[in-house]
Amino acid sequence: MAAEIKAPALRPLPLAPPLLPGAMAGSRPYVASDKMQQALGFPGELAPDWQPKALAKMGELLGRYRSLRVFLDACVHCGACADKCHYFLGTQDPLNMPVARQDLMRSVYRRHFTLPGKLFPRLVGARELTREVLDQWYTYYNQCSECRRCSVFCPYGIDTAEVTMAAKEIMDSVGLGQKYSNEIIAKVHRIGNNLGLPGPALADTLQGLEEDVKEETGADVRFPLDEAGPRCCW
Ligand code: SF4
Ligand code: SF4
Repeated sequence: MAAEIKAPALRPLPLAPPLLPGAMAGSRPYVASDKMQQALGFPGELAPDWQPKALAKMGELLGRYRSLRVFLDACVHCGACADKCHYFLGTQDPLNMPVARQDLMRSVYRRHFTLPGKLFPRLVGARELTREVLDQWYTYYNQCSECRRCSVFCPYGIDTAEVTMAAKEIMDSVGLGQKYSNEIIAKVHRIGNNLGLPGPALADTLQGLEEDVKEETGADVRFPLDEAGPRCCW
């Protein structure tokens, strides 16, 4: 006997908000300082030859990650992901649609890494990696939190987060890293903690925490600083 199947009740579809082109064009994080960039092994700032270096890095990533090339080739612009990004829903800026975010890199990929893009750039939406395009990357790839919500809705499984990661890696490699991630990592490397607290300030903070824990719980808990822990025996 066939199983009884009940179709769920139809729900009203949420509507995509109206577009506000350029709404977030002026919103971008501060660039990391040259010292912090250099501490991570990146150039301190954009050098005159940043463009060939950025394209070389892009070629390196395309060779290393087959998925990146597939994602840049496979999109059919169906729009299923367009209204799935909370950054687009919250800002209404069309360049925050996942597909448009990918296209910022896809257009450059087509120009430099595909035959149609080399021969007929205008026909396939191919663009040079100009300073203006790089600035657009900086603005809109830094408005993607790499949450991957959009990829759940893509029929091809295209992962915008991976495209964003590649764009950020390329920008880092030419000296356009952003302050709020690169400076924190550099502080961990140079000073030993993500806040960049000098040793005495960190010791004072930990002592205060020990006192707070004692006051709240009555327990003597130590937060050791720069003390070797027990050696692992396996
Ligand atoms: S859902 Fe996938 S194929 Fe459709 S536009 Fe978005 S990324 Fe492209
Ligand atoms: S991965 Fe980026 S583009 Fe996709 S939904 Fe998350 S923030 Fe938006």
